[in-house]
Amino acid sequence: MAYKFIDNYREKGARKQLVKLLEKRGIQDQRVLAAIGKIPRHYFFDETFWNQAYRDIAFPIGDGQTISQPYTVAYQSELLHVRKGDKILEIGTGSGYQTCVLLELGAEVFTIERQENLYNRTKMVLPYMGYHPNFYYGDGSKGIASSAPYDKIIVTAGAPLVPEIMLKQLKFGGLLVIPVGDEKEQKMVTILRVGENDFERIELDTFRFVPLVGDQAW
Ligand code: SAM
Repeated sequence: MAYKFIDNYREKGARKQLVKLLEKRGIQDQRVLAAIGKIPRHYFFDETFWNQAYRDIAFPIGDGQTISQPYTVAYQSELLHVRKGDKILEIGTGSGYQTCVLLELGAEVFTIERQENLYNRTKMVLPYMGYHPNFYYGDGSKGIASSAPYDKIIVTAGAPLVPEIMLKQLKFGGLLVIPVGDEKEQKMVTILRVGENDFERIELDTFRFVPLVGDQAW
């Protein structure tokens, strides 16, 4: 994939339209909308597909994976209520677009990807754009115990169930956002850790993610 970092009036205009569309679709968090308005999403695409970058769709990024739909990124980001300095674990780095949104919101991000090609590509590209998360390669279905505990954990692939090991890596008062369901569709689930073994679970809207594959997943 050939990368080119040019942000012209055409892309800036398309980005503004995308933000308006997300607002219409119900995204209210102005900080999330501002982050999406700032990050050049076309940088995550080969130049041939720049005309697809500001459509509200998921798009193939190689290795059978996708860059998530902007609405989904905005939805999960809004649910996380990111505060400056939050320590966030992201499972499923993919293109790194969601990672950049979290960084724009002021989080310290730990992100893990199990596909080696994607991991290598994103680890190389993000710093060029000025984004510096902590990159990990491996199976994120077990979380990352060595950097735990986290204020927030976001899973960007569909899980068959909530991995308990992840819950134990949340701080008290910490929040997990994870899509849970079968291969066809998943409910977005938020789980707040309120005590050592006490958790509050809420089920929200239905989405369709690529599967979370691993020891504690499919
Ligand atoms: N948010 C990303 C973006 O905007 O590009 C999209 C992520 S994509 C929908 C889901 C990613 O999760 C894929 O890159 C996939 O390889 C990764 N994934 C699946 N199972 C995983 C696991 N156990 N550990 C780490 N990454 C995993």
